[in-house]
Amino acid sequence: MNKLATLAVAIALSLSGSLYAGEHHEADHSHDHATADAKAVPDPLAQSGALDSDDHAWLAAGSIDAASSEVALAAEALADQLTDEESIIEIQRDADDKAWAVVLGGYCDTESSCVQYTRMLSLDEPESAAGATKQASQAQDMKLVIAPTALPALHMANVVIQAQVEPFRGNQSGLAGDADVRRVQQGLNAKGISTTVDGWYGNGTTSAYARWQRRLGYTGLDATGIPGPSSLAALGQNRFVLTHKINVGSRTTFSGKRVNERTRAMLREAQRLFGRTITLTQGSYNPGGVGASGGTHDGGGAVDISVSSLSQTQRWQLVRALRKVGFAAWYRTPSQGPWSSHIHAIAVGDTDMSLSARNQVADYYVGRNGLASHAPDNTPTAYRVPFTWWEKY
Ligand SMILES: [Zn+2]
Repeated sequence: MNKLATLAVAIALSLSGSLYAGEHHEADHSHDHATADAKAVPDPLAQSGALDSDDHAWLAAGSIDAASSEVALAAEALADQLTDEESIIEIQRDADDKAWAVVLGGYCDTESSCVQYTRMLSLDEPESAAGATKQASQAQDMKLVIAPTALPALHMANVVIQAQVEPFRGNQSGLAGDADVRRVQQGLNAKGISTTVDGWYGNGTTSAYARWQRRLGYTGLDATGIPGPSSLAALGQNRFVLTHKINVGSRTTFSGKRVNERTRAMLREAQRLFGRTITLTQGSYNPGGVGASGGTHDGGGAVDISVSSLSQTQRWQLVRALRKVGFAAWYRTPSQGPWSSHIHAIAVGDTDMSLSARNQVADYYVGRNGLASHAPDNTPTAYRVPFTWWEKY
């Protein structure tokens, strides 16, 4: 039996149980909900087809950002336990004022045969939610699957890379994934956000995507028009399933400076390749911190690295190590701007990056220096590597 057929049977079995039978949560009180499972999975069928719908007991509580800080913290902790193929796309409260995370996930048997599912996990009882997550992944989420449909795969990394290069540097035929961008553009149109369907992630698509993010309640770095995993998963509901997902993770530190988990992993690997300690002089999420940075460190993925203890050759070797793991990295000197010598690096594909950092990635892709002059990259040929990103490395 193939996986889809197995799935269909699993769905049928689930549907025969009282747990999944009710259209409305309240109506389910007549059934015996004594088991822990029943508590962890309240009426997923009520979610079928329309997360926007509020015509039942669920009170749509809006976006993750709008949730109370306690709930938001619980959601963040839960997000860390989900698989790479899952995202929290909404937080809802039930009639008893309990908070639940709506998790959208999916997987692909082949490039063209994918299945999408939604499940709900408690945010008031994070331990039972963790248990439910574990159980579900052991059972391959079969009994929690709803509305299974064969959906096309969407290569998230390819979309994000185009979203970072093409607004500033025009359509790049050398970048893969035009069909994926078209799918995103079709999704936006289907949501009533008009944008041209041409496979070019330009300024028009960026504005349209930012509108989609704002509609989901996102603001600031979460609404720049660069797709993140949650907004993309929400757009893909019943349309596509994400593959090659990029997750920047929570904020943490490296060398005493603030970075996200993805950037930290990249720095650790670059450090291993380089064979010496990397010391940061500036991290990420530092709006207005250093004027000379021109906003490039306002969001995720940006770091400045000290070179004071390195020889000239070592400085170039470090640039190469950073580029190898997927940074757009340049050696900066005082002759180029109001700074002392350092290496400035932006993690290609970071979905939290600021728009000025995004434009630097675009410059890097076309062999420019990412400064106001947009001059050719002065890195010696021996220290250059093909354009890449962390998930591809
Ligand atoms: Zn910098």
